[in-house]
This record gives sequence, structure tokens and C-alpha cells, in this order.
Amino acid sequence: MTIFKRIINREIPADIVYEDDLSLAFRDINPQAPTHIVIIPKREIPSLADVTAADEQVLGHLLVVARQVAEKLSLTNGYRTVINCGPDAGQTVHHIHVHLLGGRALGWPPG
Ligand code: AMP
Repeated sequence: MTIFKRIINREIPADIVYEDDLSLAFRDINPQAPTHIVIIPKREIPSLADVTAADEQVLGHLLVVARQVAEKLSLTNGYRTVINCGPDAGQTVHHIHVHLLGGRALGWPPG
């Protein structure tokens, strides 16, 4: 079981900023920006490489949640959403997630 599933199950604590039937959003334990939120589906999908047409609704939902959380946390100057997929992207938790980063100017391209 991944650490994110344990957070969904409330087996380990997290600083949760949003929750609904399909998704959960919480503060990243190792923030890379003043605001760094991880948004996950409650359905276990390992990575973007595993998604199918059946996941369209939940994937779209994660971006709508990102917008709502960005507004709630007053990221009025902009923000970035990131989905790391696989080893080259540095994915470490095999439960698909959207990073929401903001609160400072972010460099581009990413490292
Ligand atoms: P990724 O490298 O894209 O797989 O992102 C995984 C993210 O999950 C990293 O930014 C970690 O800091 C974060 N993370 C890992 N464990 C926890 C946890 N227990 N609570 C909050 N964030 C976590």
C-alpha cells in the first residue's frame, strides 16, 4: 500500500486542505515552494502511464480541485500544476498525484 493510500485511510496524518468523494488534497511534507499541495484521487491509479478512458472524469476533477485549492489558498499571482510520471520525472509515490505549487516565481524549464 502506498503512503498516499494510508493518508486516505487516515492511518497516517496529513495537513488536509480539501476533500470530496473523489479526491483529497494535502500539504506536501517536503515543500518546494511556499505553497505546495498534493492532490490525489481516492481511486488508486499508479501513474499517468496507467490511465485509461475510464479515468477521464477523475483526472479532470483533479484539475478543477487544483483551481479551487489555488483560490482557497490565495495564489492570486499564479501557480503551477505538475504530474511526475516514472523514473525520469522523479516520481516517488506510485499513486497518481498533481502537485500544486505557488507563492513564488517558478523557474522554467524545470530541472
Ligand atoms: P513525486 O516525487 O512526484 O512522486 O511526489 C511525491 C511527493 O509526495 C513528494 O513531493 C513528497 O514530498 C510528498 N510526500 C511523500 N510523503 C508524504 C507525506 N506523508 N505527506 C505529504 N507529502 C508527502
